[in-house]
Amino acid sequence: MAARIIDGKAVAAAVRARVAEEVVAYEEERGRTPVLATVLVGDDPASQIYIRNKRKACDEAGMRSVHHGLPAETSENELLELVGELGLDCDVDGILVQLPVPEHIDPDRVVRAIDPAKDVDGLTPVNAGLLAQGMPGLVSCTPAGVMELLRHEGVELEGAEAVVVGRSKLVGVPVARLLLAANATVTVCHSRTRDLPGTCRRADVLVAAAGVPHLLGAEAVKPGAIVIDVGVNRTEEGLRGDVDTEAAAEVAAAITPVPGGVGPMTVAMLLANTLAAARSRV
Ligand code: NAP
Repeated sequence: MAARIIDGKAVAAAVRARVAEEVVAYEEERGRTPVLATVLVGDDPASQIYIRNKRKACDEAGMRSVHHGLPAETSENELLELVGELGLDCDVDGILVQLPVPEHIDPDRVVRAIDPAKDVDGLTPVNAGLLAQGMPGLVSCTPAGVMELLRHEGVELEGAEAVVVGRSKLVGVPVARLLLAANATVTVCHSRTRDLPGTCRRADVLVAAAGVPHLLGAEAVKPGAIVIDVGVNRTEEGLRGDVDTEAAAEVAAAITPVPGGVGPMTVAMLLANTLAAARSRV
């Protein structure tokens, strides 16, 4: 294996330690602790684990979290009411509604109800629009984590060819916007892209966020490329990324593993966003 393995756990730990230090400074200055409100509708086991991990990370960074666990039968209106109340609550700095919500609830309506100043997942149309216009706002956690990994690796993005596989609102599009803002030349691939491996092979920086296990192998990687694998796919053989790590590592200069690459960064950036939301309040 020739490629350097990018240690997302270590980079995430560094971000979390930095946030913890900055929380101490924030408390000294403002006399209060940043507060994250988490909301989970239903009892999906994976969502419960995600929420537990996020709340634990909050504690470890010296921040407070307040959890609202609602039964699966909660109506859309009841959820919208809670999200509205949290927006008005002066004690709350960040609001995180764990997705997916049950099928009878429209996730877009819920996201639109979140106060953009407290939108620590960076998913509201206001924050997505600010990002699209290159203006400061809260950036969604996984894309922000991808950029933090690239920064940590010292990757020169200016003028680089970047290819993003996936065009979701959650990952692909915001990653592409951030790369563009960093002056990379960006191509976005999706399920209708004609020559996926050929397009990917142009990339100095390849970001895979398709949700298809081992979609990209060595034939999709330019020699010396930096490969960031966002994919988290549960298969019979265990967790798999969108990239065949072993094959791609023979060609790439550096690559993120799955697990242990982008995943840990998502929680770290949530903490950074919660602190940023707290700081930006007057
Ligand atoms: P998504 O909403 O399902 O979007 C997937 C995107 O990939 C779509 O744009 C789709 O194209 C494209 N795509 C699907 N199959 C493709 C193919 N065969 N060739 C080329 N493009 C293809 O997924 P997502 O929410 O963005 O998540 C993507 C992956 O990242 C998933 O594995 C998810 O679990 C993972 N993820 C990880 C983290 C983390 O913290 N590590 C966070 C979020 C997501 P179309 O638009 O044409 O359908």
